[in-house]
Amino acid sequence: MSAIANHSQLTIHEAHQLLKTRQISAVELARTCLARIREVEPELQALVTVTDELALSQAQKAEALIAAGDAQSPLSGIPVLIKDNMCTRGVRTTCSSRMLGDFVPPYDATVVEKLTSCHAVIVGKTNMDEFAMGSSTENSAFFPTRNPWDRSRVPGGSSGGSAVGVAAGEAIYALGSDTGGSIRQPAGFCSVTGLKPTYGRVSRYGLVAFASSLDQIGPLTQDVADCALVLNAIAGYDPRDSTSVPYPAPDYTQCLTDDLNGLRLGVPKEYFVEGMQPEVATVIRTAISRLEELGAGIDWEVSLPHTPYALAAYYIIAPSEASANLARYDGVKYGFSYLETNNMWQAMEKTRQRGFGPEVKRRIMLGTYALSAGYYDAWYLKAQKVRTLIRQEFDQAFEKYDALVTPTSPTVPFRIGEKVDDPLQMYLSDVCTLPINIAGLPAVSIPAGFADGLPVGMQIIGKPFSEETILKIAYAFQQATDWHKRKPAI
Ligand code: GLN
Repeated sequence: MSAIANHSQLTIHEAHQLLKTRQISAVELARTCLARIREVEPELQALVTVTDELALSQAQKAEALIAAGDAQSPLSGIPVLIKDNMCTRGVRTTCSSRMLGDFVPPYDATVVEKLTSCHAVIVGKTNMDEFAMGSSTENSAFFPTRNPWDRSRVPGGSSGGSAVGVAAGEAIYALGSDTGGSIRQPAGFCSVTGLKPTYGRVSRYGLVAFASSLDQIGPLTQDVADCALVLNAIAGYDPRDSTSVPYPAPDYTQCLTDDLNGLRLGVPKEYFVEGMQPEVATVIRTAISRLEELGAGIDWEVSLPHTPYALAAYYIIAPSEASANLARYDGVKYGFSYLETNNMWQAMEKTRQRGFGPEVKRRIMLGTYALSAGYYDAWYLKAQKVRTLIRQEFDQAFEKYDALVTPTSPTVPFRIGEKVDDPLQMYLSDVCTLPINIAGLPAVSIPAGFADGLPVGMQIIGKPFSEETILKIAYAFQQATDWHKRKPAI
């Protein structure tokens, strides 16, 4: 039992060493994670699908390569979980929606293809808020996922299943997607490391679209070193995604040093929002002081005055794009289809009525309204102008600072059910993460401590394509602290 917990809570770099020196085999490692999944899933429900057979066959192949000395990637033979909005060939990809409940994609997302070519071992697909709309994983059409630190609380969302899977050792790392905070907020709530790369850094080909100008895929890992290893594998240009940028991706492990001398960090006061839990603010201020001790120069009084408008702009832009993206689910092409009528319009209507859950419908209605003739200028166009102002404000800040440091969320994980009936309260849990997607920036959330025994995440935000800088800062913090090493008792 303890052996199981120990092996599945290895980092990628530790597991890689053990595999390389033949102290464990890839098959053993996969079996350990599958056993851990069986052990904790009844309580946590982080996974929609467990891919036992796939995992064991991939592990056998990886093992053969490792034995022959042919495994080039540090991800070879390492178990991973994939959020269930990324297409996996031959494996059900549901987006935690009835609409895609039986959808088996005939192709792999680019990120999945890249991991597979590194001989990664896919052990399962993770639960999420339906179509990635939410902050608690309670909007899944299947079941809510529970936070391993306190099972009466949410794990955050929408990549809640991926964060829980890593925190509880169901796999060694996971992929998530982030439109307004969905990697960073659950990473913060579950005390793991989560990175949202710069818009365009990682291909979204094969990611089920939510809001196309905001969506990014990124890693959830046990520590920053692992985060760099996964980013190395998934970053880069992809001709199949027109928004992916043709800049070459560096080796992200090269920036991992613990010297922060000469770096200038800004702390924007607007991120310590009204209504924030004071204990969370204290943890974050203490963590920032730690960065100062490590050599970084801190400006504690930065102001980004447009920050409060990001939430409103996001909840126009994201639903507008979602309403367009989700128009494809009409019961004709693929996915759920209502068949008990001969009337085409009725079939379409009932398909959407029954296939989508309440939050998805709310977003489609909001978006359709904001884009409709007469309202477009007042809402959508206005939101886009606000977006430009927010982006410019960040550009100016980055003339003075190498990175900005903030809380990831204003609170610790809230109770299951606490916010489900109040969408505005739910939307507020992303105030600190949304502006970053609005501006297309990279940001990482790392464990910064605990408040009342519950995890608190710290967010480090960088200028576009400066993943190396934010990873370096995060790495230095993890070298000096052990918050990321604490594991939930389950
Ligand atoms: N919670 C935000 C929303 O509901 C962000 C979700 C996400 O990043 N996918 O839209």
